[in-house]
Amino acid sequence: MNVEAYHQILNEIPATVQLIAVSKTKPESEVEAAYALGQRHFGENWAQEMKQKHADLPKDICWHFIGHLQTNKIKYIISYVHLIHSIDSFKLLEEVNRQAAKNERVVKCLLQFHVASEETKFGFSLDECRQMLQSEEFRRLQNVEICGVMGMATNTDDEALVHSEFRTLRDYFNCLKKDYFLDNESFKEISMGMTGDYKIAVEEGSTMIRVGSALFGERDYGTRNA
Ligand SMILES: *Cc1c(COP(=O)(O)O)cnc(C)c1O
Repeated sequence: MNVEAYHQILNEIPATVQLIAVSKTKPESEVEAAYALGQRHFGENWAQEMKQKHADLPKDICWHFIGHLQTNKIKYIISYVHLIHSIDSFKLLEEVNRQAAKNERVVKCLLQFHVASEETKFGFSLDECRQMLQSEEFRRLQNVEICGVMGMATNTDDEALVHSEFRTLRDYFNCLKKDYFLDNESFKEISMGMTGDYKIAVEEGSTMIRVGSALFGERDYGTRNA
């Protein structure tokens, strides 16, 4: 792991912004190296990989699930996951709720929004999300706690575009806060910013940055279908 980059990032970001070290595809020894420096929040994209790391590594690690979550994989993470960043449909939220109930847990979740101009990114539109939040079915969910929003900007050198996409996500957060979560203190997180754009994200109000390659180096996905 890049210890220098780790300290530099911690020094750059305000104390109120949480650094989530994205360890996907990286060996457990890398997580242990960051853990030894005091890092406790780690992000993973694949449920089975997270399950293995959770089983092998210290139990006070907070595991953040940040990748696209399929309903048939929820079972690998539901008993211990700290925060699911990537809720992108009511169907997924409902199934997380059902399995959280079976585990007698309330699981914290973020609503993922599509703010990038790229087609491939998952996420709600603001209208879709409003429809869900207004629905009777949503109000019935007792075992999930909505803690805020998450999004990804376009992968581009155009900083103005990245600024505007993150600003859009922050505006969505503010709208939802005002209309649905005003009295809810848990609804406070804006998860945005990765290695290439976390500085811009922090300028636009991010409360959680998800940084992988700056800390652990480039990833080699091999034959895995990402
Ligand atoms: C992989 C990933 C990250 C980290 O990306 P880096 O560019 O390596 O910092 C952050 N968020 C999500 C959703 C990811 O899939």
